[in-house]
Amino acid sequence: MRKFAIGAAAALAATGLAVPSANAAPASPDLAKLVTAKDIKRHLRNLQTIADHNGGNRAAGQAGFTVSTRYVVSELKKAGYTPTVQNFDFDYFQEKSPATFGQTAPNKVDYKNGDEFTSYQYSGSGDVTADAAAVDTPAPNTDGDSGCQTEDFASFPKGAIALIQRGGCDFAVKAANAKTAGATAVVIYQKPTVADSPVGGTLGGPATLPVVGPTYKVGSDLVKLAKAGGLKLHVKTDTLNEKRTTNNVIAETKSGRSDNVVVVGAHLDSVEAGPGINDNGSGTSTLLAVAQKASKLGKKGLQNKVRFAWWGAEEEGLLGAEHYVTSLSAGDRAKIALNLNFDMTASPNGVRGVYNGSDPTAPHGSAAIQKVINDYFGGRRLPTVPSDFNGRSDYGPFLEAGIPAGGIDTGAEGIKTAEEAKLFGGEAGKPYDGCYHAKCDRLTNINWNLLDTNADGVAFAVQSFAKSTLPVNGEALRTGRAFAKPAPTAPLYRGGHLVR
Ligand SMILES: [Zn+2]
Repeated sequence: MRKFAIGAAAALAATGLAVPSANAAPASPDLAKLVTAKDIKRHLRNLQTIADHNGGNRAAGQAGFTVSTRYVVSELKKAGYTPTVQNFDFDYFQEKSPATFGQTAPNKVDYKNGDEFTSYQYSGSGDVTADAAAVDTPAPNTDGDSGCQTEDFASFPKGAIALIQRGGCDFAVKAANAKTAGATAVVIYQKPTVADSPVGGTLGGPATLPVVGPTYKVGSDLVKLAKAGGLKLHVKTDTLNEKRTTNNVIAETKSGRSDNVVVVGAHLDSVEAGPGINDNGSGTSTLLAVAQKASKLGKKGLQNKVRFAWWGAEEEGLLGAEHYVTSLSAGDRAKIALNLNFDMTASPNGVRGVYNGSDPTAPHGSAAIQKVINDYFGGRRLPTVPSDFNGRSDYGPFLEAGIPAGGIDTGAEGIKTAEEAKLFGGEAGKPYDGCYHAKCDRLTNINWNLLDTNADGVAFAVQSFAKSTLPVNGEALRTGRAFAKPAPTAPLYRGGHLVR
């Protein structure tokens, strides 16, 4: 998941040249050396094979995920762990056939799925032809808050299709208000600042009405026609919404304080569109290879317990990590010193992003995690850029609980800048991962250099915090959390999906 936010050029240079801290002195044993690229490659190849034989994906609620779970469990057992499979129910969503969307009057127009519109995650199923009515249309070139209040629908004709502009509140709120007002389908079109692309997003949970998201151009043209009178639209969605069960896999070191635990996570699931080898076979395999060597740190190196977690249903909205964090007792939550997250560590045109714990809204201690990772890479003259905490991966529920977090990610569908191409190589003007959430996210989509160097960073961070979390939490968390700040409110993303 995720989209890149770029810091100032000066900040990039500074992180690239960071002087290693005392923490970065090579330890013995050196976990980064014990974890080999060969081990990680083997896991990646196995995940690819699992996807290839199970419908081409490893998505939550599907066979490829179940087999991926068994693989991780069996590899952990071989390494001496006693892994736990933590089950939970979730809202499974599938688009059974592509949605269609068009105008039947005054003109006959079929809009192109993917280019001119997309459907929303958790859209209901339906085949509706009806008059369309614009809802509280914002002034031209403003985002506004169309459909966010029930009053916006005061004059809405029951049975019509609602035309609502994106902006001001979650898609879920707009769709729910439209349903209450008697709409038969909902069109939430793009806002003017992102004019050319259709809106893709999540409704957060099952909806009963069809919901589609055209471009601003299509949406604003339709609003004009609706206001002139006589606009009829056709919306057809064919979706499955049902409860399914999925799981996290959790395994912790035998040694170390259980009241000062380092939780290290990577999501195990892919999207349904492809095998998810970079997203997130890369994090999954790196974590597995690190876990398999962690006992070599010995009692001395494992002052704190390391709890490795492979999260399920990240792509459905960080559901596994959320289930884990919210089902802990307050006491057990307070025993978590920090969370490290690794989601996409080998984007083919990627950058070395380190989560920006210096963000004032991140829980205190997050900046220290960022510094430990930056200093490590700085010591090896490997450049880094800050990566925003924007809600797009499994650190989200930890931040919300006030737990400091950090980690590495190399970029998703965002576009590489010229400065980044100078720092990291690759192609400016192209996405970090051109196969993000696509069928081509296969072994061929892995940047082996980033995978390997980032795995060293993962191993280093795990080793460092297994030994001491002093810079993050003062190591005095025996009775409860003292350093947390409120989490940032209302992130724009939930996993890979826009929420508003
Ligand atoms: Zn991901």
